[in-house]
Amino acid sequence: MLAVERRTYILNKLRKEGRVQVGELSRELQVSRMTIHRDLDYLAEKETRVKKVFGGAVFEGEVHHEHGKCAMCGKPIPSRTAVVLQTISGERVEACCPHCALLLIETRDDILSGMATDFIYERIMNMKSAVYLVHPDVVVCCDPPVLCFGDERDAQRFQCGFQGEIMSLEEAKEHVVFHMTLAMT
Ligand SMILES: [Zn+2]
Ligand SMILES: [Zn+2]
Repeated sequence: MLAVERRTYILNKLRKEGRVQVGELSRELQVSRMTIHRDLDYLAEKETRVKKVFGGAVFEGEVHHEHGKCAMCGKPIPSRTAVVLQTISGERVEACCPHCALLLIETRDDILSGMATDFIYERIMNMKSAVYLVHPDVVVCCDPPVLCFGDERDAQRFQCGFQGEIMSLEEAKEHVVFHMTLAMT
């Protein structure tokens, strides 16, 4: 059985039963307790609802405990910049603004899609079709700021007043990742 199969099995069991035990899983899956511990570590890191407890792990219901807080930086989520990402396993991951959403996409490997908010009209749109204004001269949420617009003309109008650079999703991601890598060194 592959690691990914084992982890899916464990996650399903957690969803169904709310709790798993290392000893039990190691017998069921015929792998060492050490392997199960590593699987649980992995799941706990990837799935905010999975928490390791002594001797196993628990699944914290359908309630998203981090609701209203950015999964990247922990800040509250402003309605004009909110981004909701969807993971492969169907989990919702919320980001305070496109800046953090782009970092989440870069650092996690389980993000399937994302919905961003138009900065002017607060309309929800697919991240792939959004226009990104990177590093405008405004303090909105995170630095460097990234704003999403549904219409390129709106982004241009905003750019006239506040500068910044208009980019695609990929370009904006590279820019933010590059900037944050520099900030860390
Ligand atoms: Zn954030
Ligand atoms: Zn932010």
